Amino acid sequence: MLFKDIIGHVEIKNRLRKSVLENRISHAQLFLGSEGSGTLQLAIAYAQYICCLKRMDEDSCGVCSSCIKYNKLIHPDLHFVFPVVTKKNYAMPDGNTRDLISSSDYMFLFRKAFAENPHQNLNQWMAFIEAENKQGIIAVDESSELIRKLSLKTYESDYKITIIWMPEKMRTEAANHLLKIIEEPPNKTLFILVAENSDQIINTILSRTQLIKINKPTDDELITAVMVKYDYKKEQAAYIVHLADGNQNEVQSLAHPDIDDDSTKELLTWWRLCYGFNLPKNQYDLIAWVDVQAKIGREKQKNFILYSMHIFRECMMLQYAGESTVRMNDEELKAFTKFAPMINENNCHEFVNELNKAYFHIERNANPKILFLDLSFKLGRLLRS
Ligand SMILES: [Zn+2]
Repeated sequence: MLFKDIIGHVEIKNRLRKSVLENRISHAQLFLGSEGSGTLQLAIAYAQYICCLKRMDEDSCGVCSSCIKYNKLIHPDLHFVFPVVTKKNYAMPDGNTRDLISSSDYMFLFRKAFAENPHQNLNQWMAFIEAENKQGIIAVDESSELIRKLSLKTYESDYKITIIWMPEKMRTEAANHLLKIIEEPPNKTLFILVAENSDQIINTILSRTQLIKINKPTDDELITAVMVKYDYKKEQAAYIVHLADGNQNEVQSLAHPDIDDDSTKELLTWWRLCYGFNLPKNQYDLIAWVDVQAKIGREKQKNFILYSMHIFRECMMLQYAGESTVRMNDEELKAFTKFAPMINENNCHEFVNELNKAYFHIERNANPKILFLDLSFKLGRLLRS
């Protein structure tokens, strides 16, 4: 990860580079930023910069042997700790089965998840590793393994760097264990804690780390990046950035919703049922639809809401700016063109508001049956208004 590939954060990048160039690297740092701020990206870019063999003033070289390993997150002196669940007899890609217990066991999945979405939140990570209803934690064994690794000599670089993602999920015993090394660190050892919420981190850890507060990139920085990355016009990019409230995790979902082939059909069915809920037959079908939707799981429900927002936004564009500006495929155009006139300046804010609220409540474990039924009635009313 190079600094130049991270959106915004001009001042923080300067500060981090300066600490390396002036040889003032504090051995335990807490990178604190809300979801989608790019915090984990910054931690990795910083670590890569420290270890780069042909470091330049403004960035890592990106091509030395250290950078090549950093690009794949396989550098032997870079360690990760993050919340996991215990899995017995996991079928590995090589055909063998093994138990997955610690972060290092999960590293092959973590690399894949980070490559797909460097802004993932804990829920997405849990869904990615199919944790089902288990809660991800950083257990005490994790610190013991880390202490063992850190007692070894470095393999290839001067520094041994450990990035701890989501230390909020660290068990007290694990934290106490870790504190001992943070207090008396081996030479050239660096800990970077990457957290979203300092209230949930054990106080003794907090008091022993240097805080680096990371804000979201500015709207202008994000809008420019979205225009380039997704080939959007300025007003489309601005709309997405505004909807996502500057959270790059949500920006990514909104600009590029994770949908499968049936999503269009499913969404069309839903909007039809919402529109026609005043007919008794449709009410029956809507309740049956909600029953099914309630069971698909939280991540899929969130994707479905994001996909609804995406199509809703495209319907607005279709209505006000014409077909040439719209990013819908042929199937979507065919399915949703007739809904476009129902979305107008009177109801659009309420529409967005209701979908946003639903997304927010799904994330916080609202009852999905009640949520989707209530949302369906509201959308139906708005479509007919
Ligand atoms: Zn390099």
